[in-house]
Formats: sequence, C-alpha cells, structure tokens
Amino acid sequence: MRIALFGPPGAGKGTQASILAETYGLKTISTGNLIREAMREGSELGEEARSYVTAGKLVPGELVRKLADSAVANAGFNDFILDGYPRTIEQAQWLDAFLRAYKAELHGVVFLAVPDEVIIERLSKRRVHRLTGESYHLDFLPPPADVSPEDIIQRADDQPEAIASRLRGYRRETKPLENHFRVTGLLREVDGNASVDVVHNRIIRFLKSSPVTAARKAG
Ligand code: AMP
Repeated sequence: MRIALFGPPGAGKGTQASILAETYGLKTISTGNLIREAMREGSELGEEARSYVTAGKLVPGELVRKLADSAVANAGFNDFILDGYPRTIEQAQWLDAFLRAYKAELHGVVFLAVPDEVIIERLSKRRVHRLTGESYHLDFLPPPADVSPEDIIQRADDQPEAIASRLRGYRRETKPLENHFRVTGLLREVDGNASVDVVHNRIIRFLKSSPVTAARKAG
C-alpha cells in the first residue's frame, strides 16, 4: 500500500501517519522529520534548510526531493505513507514521475481538512519531545508526568509568526495540489476537525472502500 497524507500544517498528518503505520505495517516518510533530523545532525542539507524551516517557509524543493526519493527507495517502493510530501505541484510532478518509473504509483491521497482557527490553536499549544519527536498538546494530550519538562520544547516554527507564515505558504503553494490530486481521482477528503480516534476511523473507512485495499490484498 502506498498512500500520502495531505493537508495544512497542524492537520494531524504526523499523528495519523504514525497510527496508520502501526495499523498497516507501513513505513512513515515525513519530510519534516527528515529535515529536522538533518538539522540536528548538522549536515550540509540540514544547514541549508534551517533558515527556511525556522521562518516557517518551504525548503527549496530539490533538497526535499532528494530526501523523499531516497526514503521511498529505502522502503522498497512499497508499504509507505508519505507525510508532508509532496507539498507543491512541482514536487507532486517529481513524485509522480519517480513512482511511475518504478511502477509504484500511489493508491490514494488522504486530504485532512481542518479550519484555520483550529490549526492555530493546535500548533500554538503543540509541544514536542526534543529527542523522540513525540508530539503533545498542552490541553488534550499533555506530556506524561515521567517525562522531564526540560525535554519538552516548542518547535521554532510553532511560534505565532512562523505559524502565520506556514499558513500563508500552505494556501499559496500547497492548496493547489488538492485539485491536482482530485483530477487524478486519488484524493479523498476527510474531516480532520475531530479527535484523533474519530479521524483515524474516518481514514480507515476510506482505505477500506478504496482501491488501496485491493492493492493490499494483492500484496
Ligand atoms: P512539517 O513537520 O511537515 O510541518 O514540516 C516542517 C517544515 O519542514 C516545513 O514548515 C518546511 O519548512 C519543511 N518541509 C517539510 N516538508 C517539506 C516539503 N515537502 N517541501 C518543502 N519544505 C518542507
């Protein structure tokens, strides 16, 4: 099964991707995580990406393309879930061509729709574990008591100005992808403004009723 999760920042793509990965035994490919990892390691790519990420801007496509392509190849071109890639029409075209070349086209794209005001609330109250990357929400999913408060941080791009910039960038560069995927017949819109469990069940319902399931049965 090869699927992509698409939607605004804070739509819950990362959370849903990790649950789906566990449910279906998929490998999660999150370009955001890969970029943050490169930044932590201080690699050349990480250093190039840093100023964009901190300002809430999209990283130049070529950098992300390399990360995504090699992660897809490492997954053996199957059983993966893309989280946060592609994010522009150009990236979608690269990905389509890359997957087509390996006869590994996507089976479905889940669009997690969430209103702006919910996104702002979610992102400004999001906290992450600096080592594991585990995500929390100050009200709905506070960090457990046995986790040291020093390890809980706020992402630089979850600061108000960066959130605003990410939302502007999303509308300008990523939202047009909705139509791109609709035209290909791959897109299924799921209302992401609900609890984690409810949204997960909505996604599962889509996966069960789509060609994805047939692809899975066929191995
Ligand atoms: P995320 O964790 O998905 O919210 O991504 C965090 C940041 O990484 C984004 O705000 C961008 O700066 C960068 N990023 C992640 N994925 C992409 C992508 N597909 N294209 C460009 N930049 C990306």
